[in-house]
Amino acid sequence: MAGAAAFAAAPALAALPASGEVEVAVVGAGAAGIAAARRIAAGGRSCLLLEAAGRIGGRVRSGPGKFGIVHDQGAHRLYGGGRSALVQLARAERIRLFEPPPGRRLYVGEREARDNEYDDFTAALRRASRAIIAAGEAGRDVAAARVMPELPGWDASVAFVLGPLFASKDLGEVSSVDFARAEDRTEDLGCRDGLAAVLAAAAKPLRIELDTLVRSIDAGGRGAVVLQTARGNLRARAVIVTASTNVLAAGAIEFRPALPRRAADALARVSLGSYERIVFELAGNPFGFRADERIVFKVADQRTAALVGRVNGSDLAYADLAGRFGGELARAGEAAMLGYLKELIAAQFGAAAPVKIGRTEVVRWSADPLIRGGVSAATPGAAASRRVLMEPVQDRVFFAGEAAHETQWGTVGGAWSSGERAAEAALRLFAGAPATPSSPAQAAKKKRRGK
Ligand SMILES: Cc1cc2nc3c(=O)[nH]c(=O)nc-3n(C[C@H](O)[C@H](O)[C@H](O)COP(=O)(O)OP(=O)(O)OC[C@H]3O[C@@H](n4cnc5c(N)ncnc54)[C@H](O)[C@@H]3O)c2cc1C
Repeated sequence: MAGAAAFAAAPALAALPASGEVEVAVVGAGAAGIAAARRIAAGGRSCLLLEAAGRIGGRVRSGPGKFGIVHDQGAHRLYGGGRSALVQLARAERIRLFEPPPGRRLYVGEREARDNEYDDFTAALRRASRAIIAAGEAGRDVAAARVMPELPGWDASVAFVLGPLFASKDLGEVSSVDFARAEDRTEDLGCRDGLAAVLAAAAKPLRIELDTLVRSIDAGGRGAVVLQTARGNLRARAVIVTASTNVLAAGAIEFRPALPRRAADALARVSLGSYERIVFELAGNPFGFRADERIVFKVADQRTAALVGRVNGSDLAYADLAGRFGGELARAGEAAMLGYLKELIAAQFGAAAPVKIGRTEVVRWSADPLIRGGVSAATPGAAASRRVLMEPVQDRVFFAGEAAHETQWGTVGGAWSSGERAAEAALRLFAGAPATPSSPAQAAKKKRRGK
């Protein structure tokens, strides 16, 4: 037997490390991998999701942790409202979503901004994003920083919100075209149960092998792709790879034959910046924050952070450190990050009374070898690279993940729909071949027929 027929007849793999075969292997159980595996299973093909970590979710990770309070260590908002597949899924699963307060609270020195300062900041933000979008839409693929207008007094604050906070990179490292293509993210929802609950619900019907690091992917043989994992080898007709661009560009998975130059370049040019988080206790809401509101500061340079106050109405807050400065702090280590947080809190709020930061949890995504950064942002001149990531390699290696989405990059929703797209492309390989009897879709059909 050859090609799809051989795989259709192969028994599904019970569990690694026993060697086995599957029609489609999916590498990485973040949003993209889970979406891809669901789509493959719904298409009637056997699928196995291989995840190196001991948990699913990737950059979506929630926990009560030592605080005993639900919080998100990575993504914490779903964009796109009712149009989002994940929002629909969460609602169907009765996962509790909520609308966070709109906009951001702005601090100038040790006080909240006055009305005219809010107006100036908002106008400056609009002017800057319009200028970048105009350049991008005109096809000028340059550093977003190069087309920023003069914004006296507000340059650094605006550059921080549009660069590190949005794209995890400073605007000097962000392509204007990539920025212009990004969909609006103002319509957002938080999740009282933690965003990981949404992916956990989505992953329920899937066959997932945790603690299964994929070391190499060999697509050089005839018909099959061989994945060498920490727990044995797996043969598949096709593979969908969802590890982050930084993980792949670092060579953490060896491809045989080597990836075409075009794909390797694209991975490097749609690299992840830095986006780190400190979760910390601020007992008694000393600054009068509203539940889940975002806070930014008027600053003179981008050595700053954004806060989220009273997470889920609790005493927890987030400090998000991103871009070049966030990356520097993450490399310097947890003590450096906590030292900066103390300085920030003292400088912005310390005058009235010294404020005590309680317990803390530092999440350094850049230091996680399975992630290696925040979100992808195309480097100037490289916006077209996202499209390259959507091209199959050897007709059976497909890439997915937030980096492989042109308008929703950097988001959970973008990762999800890129996973679905890659799965559709992989399913086309099986056009005409009978579905695998053991696939979940077939099993469900049989059950309905009472067999
Ligand atoms: C701090 C932070 C805040 C964010 N906030 C938001 C937000 O509010 N809203 C939003 O929409 N987005 C947000 N994002 C972005 C969002 O989290 C990501 O875009 C999305 O989760 C990426 O999903 P993914 O499936 O593409 O990749 P990942 O989540 O990175 O998943 C890839 C998976 O592959 C696994 N893997 C890696 N190497 C291997 C290997 N060799 N073998 C097997 N498995 C491997 C990894 O362990 C991981 O589970 C945020 C990101 C960060 C870091």
